[in-house]
Amino acid sequence: MQTNKPSNCCTNITGCETDLICLPPSKFKRIVVIGGGFAGLAFAKKLKNKNFQVILIDKNNFHQFQPLLYQVATSGLEPDSIAFPLRKQLSNYKNVTFRLAEVLKIETSTNTVYTDKGLLTYDFLVIATGTATNFFGLKSVEENSLGLKDIRDSLNIRHMMLQNLEQAAITCNTNERDALTNFVIVGGGPAGIEMAGALAEFCKYILPKDYPEYPSSIMKIYLVEASQKILSVMSENASSKVTQYLKDLNVEVLLNEAVVDYDGKVVKTKSGKEIYARNLIWAAGVKGQLPEGLDSNFIIHGQRIKTNEYLKVEGYNNVFAMGDVAASISDKTPKGHPQVAQPAIQQGDYLAENFLRTIQNKPLKPFIYKDKGSLATVGKRKAVADIGKIKFSGYAAWLVWSFVHLMSISGFKNKLLVGLNWAISYFSYDKSNRLIIRNFKVNNKESHE
Ligand SMILES: Cc1cc2nc3c(=O)[nH]c(=O)nc-3n(C[C@H](O)[C@H](O)[C@H](O)COP(=O)(O)OP(=O)(O)OC[C@H]3O[C@@H](n4cnc5c(N)ncnc54)[C@H](O)[C@@H]3O)c2cc1C
Repeated sequence: MQTNKPSNCCTNITGCETDLICLPPSKFKRIVVIGGGFAGLAFAKKLKNKNFQVILIDKNNFHQFQPLLYQVATSGLEPDSIAFPLRKQLSNYKNVTFRLAEVLKIETSTNTVYTDKGLLTYDFLVIATGTATNFFGLKSVEENSLGLKDIRDSLNIRHMMLQNLEQAAITCNTNERDALTNFVIVGGGPAGIEMAGALAEFCKYILPKDYPEYPSSIMKIYLVEASQKILSVMSENASSKVTQYLKDLNVEVLLNEAVVDYDGKVVKTKSGKEIYARNLIWAAGVKGQLPEGLDSNFIIHGQRIKTNEYLKVEGYNNVFAMGDVAASISDKTPKGHPQVAQPAIQQGDYLAENFLRTIQNKPLKPFIYKDKGSLATVGKRKAVADIGKIKFSGYAAWLVWSFVHLMSISGFKNKLLVGLNWAISYFSYDKSNRLIIRNFKVNNKESHE
């Protein structure tokens, strides 16, 4: 039945008498999606102008392309070129409404979502909130280091690097100078190795030009990995190639080693090593980013929400979860799917398709992940690719990596900006975004001096 009165809207925005978030009227069932990342956006796109009212909530007003955060952090790209406003993305979607709000709590007994801006009700709820940095309970590390999970993190890392290099040029204390120019990256997964490679290139090509007073050997980069090899999510071939590439770029790779303590100046490791470093970047793990309210029996290892093969959260009829925050458990996937972009995008598409099948009275299909392969790069012309049984590295892999990433970025203008930046830096070896605009923040506190 069609109604003229909005079903979830205060009548007067300025004198709002309820805590409800204003929403447009709709005759269709309402799906509330929390998170406009890869999964949430793919879901909303698939339901464009279909017979559902889709409310997309995100605490940011943009979708971000996390795989290139490390390039923003190392002055290679501007943040605007890897982020895209969600409202612009959804401007032609008549049935999709965006609301900027942070979801704090879900109340499944009343089908209500509580946010920092008010509340709203749903017929179906889709949770796609992704992950946050996991410091594994290491309080001192969390308080004094920087993670790499969103654009704010990458801008903090960029400012930390540039401010500390400037400070190093000023100080006469050699120990302090070493600490300011030493970088420790924790975690030898894709994010850690890409960050280490980009920093090493900064050190090789930018440092000698910008800071002629230093020898380029002054900037030391350590990559600390707790297991016995880096890039263990990829093939043996990829792992050993990347190790070699990093060594060629003078990155010191510490295997079977774990950071256990950091006071902002001295990094302490499990084996008793001490590294003086004012720059610690934590890329060692993630955990599900969960609003309160779900039954803790369905939250499993890594704070992921356990779903069945249809992405329905166990124990609920109208709550679904997808992307990094979810783990779809079956005999074939006892640990869920990898926490990377492809499963998230495919799950968003799949779940929307199943909603459409429901209103068409068609039977539902279980989710099956199509693995398109993995890519990683550690700098210009150096990358590794595992595509099915084909494993290759070097320039060809780097070209594939560049093409795939360029095509995956949202928006034509962003593709153009990133492509142009890459083309310029390919020939000039320059990273031009080296402005210090504000002090970096660690743990939301303004940095020193
Ligand atoms: C540094 C880095 C490098 C990576 N490199 C690669 C790579 O090379 N290849 C690859 O495939 N994958 C890579 N990944 C992983 C990939 O980015 C994720 O797998 C993917 O983003 C997961 O998509 P998602 O939709 O589940 O979550 P996300 O993309 O993280 O989106 C979650 C969204 O939910 C919003 N949100 C969270 N909590 C709330 C709340 N309470 N209220 C409102 N909104 C909320 C967030 O603002 C965000 O927009 C990388 C990740 C990082 C951090």
